[in-house]
Amino acid sequence: MEIITKVNQMQMLSKDIKKNSKTIGFVPTMGYLHEGHLSLVRASKKDTDVTVVSIFVNPIQFGPKEDLSRYPRDFERDRSMLEKEGVDYIFYPSVEEMYQADFSTTINVEGVTKNLCGASRPGHFRGVATVVGKLFNIVMPDKAYFGEKDFQQLVTIKRMVRDLNFPIEIIGMPIVREKDGLAMSSRNSYLSEEERESALCLYKSIILAREMVKCGKKNIKDILNAIEELIRNTPYTKIDYVKICNPETLEYIEDGDIDGKKLLALAVFVGNTRLIDNAILEG
Ligand code: AMP
Repeated sequence: MEIITKVNQMQMLSKDIKKNSKTIGFVPTMGYLHEGHLSLVRASKKDTDVTVVSIFVNPIQFGPKEDLSRYPRDFERDRSMLEKEGVDYIFYPSVEEMYQADFSTTINVEGVTKNLCGASRPGHFRGVATVVGKLFNIVMPDKAYFGEKDFQQLVTIKRMVRDLNFPIEIIGMPIVREKDGLAMSSRNSYLSEEERESALCLYKSIILAREMVKCGKKNIKDILNAIEELIRNTPYTKIDYVKICNPETLEYIEDGDIDGKKLLALAVFVGNTRLIDNAILEG
């Protein structure tokens, strides 16, 4: 496994790989890896000839009051996890390598970024789309793997790839959870023991919604009210949003019954840590 820190070196390598008619699978991450990330790596290893994982905490996707400076980092640990998985290259650039001081071009995906995290985190998806677009131009993958954990991110990247004609197949992978149901996340490392217990309210909300739908209680207002009550009764929590929406457009659906596939999406502060989760409800 090789660690590449320079953009032009990564581009040269990718051109060489392609010249030899080999396919490139790409997994973009912000590091502090867990089984969720590794599930993407394993899918790439299975589908493609050469797997590239990027580790880059992208400053432009964090708001001014967000956790950029304390975002967890442990490159040595990540490196040894990826080595064990048989990854071929880690792309590990510095911020200066990715963003020149007078950097002035961004990618703005409209529509699907308006609601959910896009409403709570202004500028977040512009930062995500821009860095992913740059990484696609640097790594030049055939396939790129993203987790459904960040459902809105996956929808946004698919839209960007379609609209801007990136010759890349985007593959969404299911959410990997801890044994008790908490969705794996690098940010779970912020949680105290008590907060970790409270964090389960996101998964419990999904289970509650699924059970309601299963026994015929499909009214969207009733489901949202039941979830909000569950979370309000959980210590250390504050709801950012609980929404049901169209899984393609991410438009909110506020009335009526669950009919067909709908996305339940949640963002909850547990202490100071903002956690997200989602599930498809099928009515
Ligand atoms: P991050 O390092 O948080 O930017 O995540 C990198 C990639 O891993 C993104 O495509 C995430 O959606 C994906 N990912 C993060 N957590 C999980 C999880 N629990 N299950 C599946 N994929 C995940």
